[in-house]
Amino acid sequence: MKTVFISGASRGLGAVIAKTFASNNYNVIINYNNSEHEANDLKKFLESNYKIKCFLYKCDVSNEFEVKDMFLKIKGEIGNIDCVINNAGISLDNSLIDKTYDEFMKVISVNLLGTYLISKYSLEVLKKGCIINVSSNNIYEGSYIESIDYDASKAGVISLTHSLARFLAPNIRVNAVAPGWILTDMTKDLDLNFKKYEEDKILLKRFGKSEEIADAVYFLASNEYVNDCILRIDGGIRWILI
Ligand code: NAP
Repeated sequence: MKTVFISGASRGLGAVIAKTFASNNYNVIINYNNSEHEANDLKKFLESNYKIKCFLYKCDVSNEFEVKDMFLKIKGEIGNIDCVINNAGISLDNSLIDKTYDEFMKVISVNLLGTYLISKYSLEVLKKGCIINVSSNNIYEGSYIESIDYDASKAGVISLTHSLARFLAPNIRVNAVAPGWILTDMTKDLDLNFKKYEEDKILLKRFGKSEEIADAVYFLASNEYVNDCILRIDGGIRWILI
């Protein structure tokens, strides 16, 4: 039986990715930072609905000491794993001028440094298999003035994906998804006019469901010839409305 590690899987897209892999017979390691209650509920849900084991590890992906310690524990308690998904991410929207040093550093630390730290220390237990990074379609021409730090972090994740694919081949494949808008906690408080404006740019005229992104992540894990691939999944975007 295969085992997948998912960062930031207590809620949102990560929790749905956990369900998708569990439904495909993977044991699931859920990493969370603050949402312990949600992580416990997800573990109960997965173990009662699928014939799999679920493990919980609390860790801030941007803290090197915690990440290193987590993978040493995983090595001792679980052993080798087959797939690592770098999903944990935050956005701290603020205008270009008002954005603070601390905000910028926090976003880069969780989204970009966290992806690097998890990838690096997971090699303790990921000897053969794959890494899948969650980037964003903001890396294309559609960046936003409130989220230049987030957009830069997600562009960095794409660069990391290419570098890791090159340097970890042939034993480990490395791919990324670049989702557009997804209905999760991260987007639930968007202004309704802004949401409508964004939906109008999407050829399918709606935000994506987490299940649709999770299916794409599972595809990247299960097709063993896909490598160094950035899978854009956003319903088709026209950035300029005409
Ligand atoms: P979300 O609903 O806000 O959930 C974020 C998850 O990340 C939570 O499980 C949270 O865990 C975890 N997390 C945050 N900081 C962490 C840290 N320092 N260490 C460990 N875990 C941490 O966000 P989402 O929408 O599901 O986003 C998931 C991924 O998809 C992110 O990388 C995001 O950038 C990307 N994405 C989202 C969208 C979108 O429209 N929603 C679009 C493109 C890409 P705790 O609550 O336990 O702290």
